[in-house]
Amino acid sequence: MKRYPDYHSFRKDLLSGKVSCLSQVEYHLEKIHLNETLNAFLSVYEREALQQARIVDEKIKHGTAGRLAGLVVGLKDVLSYENHPLQAGSRILNDFNAQFNATAVQRLIDEDAIIIGRQNCDEFAMGSSNENSAFGPVKNPLDHSRVPGGSSGGSAAAVAADLCMVSIGSDTGGSVRQPAAFCGIVGIKPTYSRISRYGLVAYGSSFDCIGIFSHSIEDSALVLEIISGTDEYDSTVSSLPVPKYTSFLPQLSEKKFSIAVLNDIDQTALQPEINDCLNQKIRELEANGHTINQVSFSLNEYVLPTYYILTTAEASSNLSRYDGVRYGHRSTSVTNLESLYKKSRTEGFGAEVQRRILLGNFVLTSDYYDAYYAKAQKVRSMIRKKIREIFQENDFILMPTAPTTAFKLGQHTTNPVEMYLADLFSVQANVAGIPAISVPCGKDKQGLPIGLQLMADDFQETELLAGAQMLMNLA
Ligand code: GLN
Repeated sequence: MKRYPDYHSFRKDLLSGKVSCLSQVEYHLEKIHLNETLNAFLSVYEREALQQARIVDEKIKHGTAGRLAGLVVGLKDVLSYENHPLQAGSRILNDFNAQFNATAVQRLIDEDAIIIGRQNCDEFAMGSSNENSAFGPVKNPLDHSRVPGGSSGGSAAAVAADLCMVSIGSDTGGSVRQPAAFCGIVGIKPTYSRISRYGLVAYGSSFDCIGIFSHSIEDSALVLEIISGTDEYDSTVSSLPVPKYTSFLPQLSEKKFSIAVLNDIDQTALQPEINDCLNQKIRELEANGHTINQVSFSLNEYVLPTYYILTTAEASSNLSRYDGVRYGHRSTSVTNLESLYKKSRTEGFGAEVQRRILLGNFVLTSDYYDAYYAKAQKVRSMIRKKIREIFQENDFILMPTAPTTAFKLGQHTTNPVEMYLADLFSVQANVAGIPAISVPCGKDKQGLPIGLQLMADDFQETELLAGAQMLMNLA
């Protein structure tokens, strides 16, 4: 069985009978077993995936297979897949099985994708290194002493190590783009509300976004096209029609873009090779006829605090449902209802999740509500307004996805603020609700991948994907 660079090339051979879904699933299963030390998967649905592959192979023979026939997909452990375990990387959801399919998952299945397993992640998607998982950290496949990024670390590692073709993750503040950058693959987070959140475990509901990991832009475009769009189960989904991203892409391949670069980003936090890489790309873009505009974004220093105030507030509310009563972990050593709540939550949640619940409750208390929560809401509107002004003159903003390449396991675990700084560049898109994509753009001195990020205005995913393709194709 040969290794395919992406689904697109696999599909050509699949439809012409050169390869079968069954052999491809066997290939990925073998890769999963050979790479168990990565700890990327929490469950592998071996028997079901093989059975599904046989069914899809039959459909191909009869010409009835869907648009994702044989696409081998992994799901971050925050997406509901009916009758399969769902734990959000947490002990508090021990033994919990999903009761229904997330809309995104259902749409993949309807097009004959094959779900191969459930992927490790930071607990409740809170983290930047996958070290907050109750199931232990994931290792970066390119260097086992380093993190794969987070929170969707297992999903990024799995695609990078070829354990599956595509992974579906979630991005509340960078959890698809930052691990994609650390593992050298493509990661996209569309506009907030483009994809239904039905069946996605909630973290910060006004930030949460389902995202896609792939090797190629084309694969991301195809999956995005299929999982986006209105959904009767989520009234917050945009009713704007979903463009045919895949057919528009070639039409934009010659387009010359206008690209903003922020001239006031904090250089001290940035690894020098990433800055060099950014400058190199800027030169190449100009040489290829694209326009670069240096713009200032005076609200930079407020983006990260705004994100952490608002997401912890939303998380403290969202996570109040895990009380040991209805589902998940229930403490056995309890004396009354209050101790049932306290002990179940103390035993079930890890340290980072507890910290965020406390922080969130703090900023929502009546004494501090105006000083923190209400103020952060106002700053969020200002940030969004300011960013959208940049798009009046520019197609994209170009910036690094993360301030560093993949760091060592354990390097930031004792200092939460240091860990939060890993999100310095990625949270901006979520605070503003705009789409963003990370593409691999070179390596640092140690050979670790560098990711650069393009952001676009609301619902400009077609242009964003075309811009990302152009960036990947640069000399
Ligand atoms: N690292 C960020 C956080 O810890 C982003 C997480 C995410 O996007 N889910 O909140």
